[in-house]
Amino acid sequence: MSAVVELHGVTKTYAGGVTALDAVSLGVGAGELVAIAGPSGSGKSTMLHLLGTLDRPSAGTVLVEGRDVSRLSDRRLSALRARAIGFVFQRFHLAGGVSALDNVADGLLYGGVPLARRRARASQALERVGLGHRLRHRPHELSGGERQRVAIARAVVGGPALLLADEPTGALDSASGAGVLALLRELAEAGTTVVLITHDRDIAAMAPRRVGMRDGRIVRDTAHGDTRPEARAEAGR
Ligand code: ADP
Repeated sequence: MSAVVELHGVTKTYAGGVTALDAVSLGVGAGELVAIAGPSGSGKSTMLHLLGTLDRPSAGTVLVEGRDVSRLSDRRLSALRARAIGFVFQRFHLAGGVSALDNVADGLLYGGVPLARRRARASQALERVGLGHRLRHRPHELSGGERQRVAIARAVVGGPALLLADEPTGALDSASGAGVLALLRELAEAGTTVVLITHDRDIAAMAPRRVGMRDGRIVRDTAHGDTRPEARAEAGR
């Protein structure tokens, strides 16, 4: 079984000489849910950007669905990203004044799907995240947890293999955050690969796999049997 996304010896050095990622290797398989934890500046966001093909490594290889992204033209890489990868952000990034339905339908703009079809699929995606009764609500009429569910519906409406989430519970109270994590687990159990960044230990503890970062390196990975108490503390228990 090949991984949905893989980093092989990936280094990222920013202008000014900061090594944000230092020869990192990581593979994430279909249907896995992985929480990336670690102190501020440890390289979590940089890793998520590279997994999402939003940035290119200084050295090493990134494979998405087995394809070396460095060998793709910008146009093909954009097409791969639009088809295979969904993104969720801490502050939702929904369009204000636009219904939940149309916010989610916009997630299909890239594929050239006609509007009526986009809305039908958006409606199904909102049902899936438990918001079938909120289709016409605009973002300011929804709670934070509901907004994040809309954002998740938008990210998965096109059926991506990989969902990347940057602190998806960071702007939510703990009950809403736990609900969002439960939803991400359901999506993973249905086959979507989910990688999220979190600094919240309780959220990390709910993830089946936990990876701990420090100084641009992976210091713990529960998938490799790294479940010693101190390892679990670093990786978010
Ligand atoms: P985290 O998400 O764990 O807080 P980041 O991946 O954002 O860590 O950052 C890792 C390191 O890279 C930090 O030292 C940060 O200051 C540096 N860094 C991040 N982005 C840039 C950038 N665009 N230019 C220069 N340095 C950066």
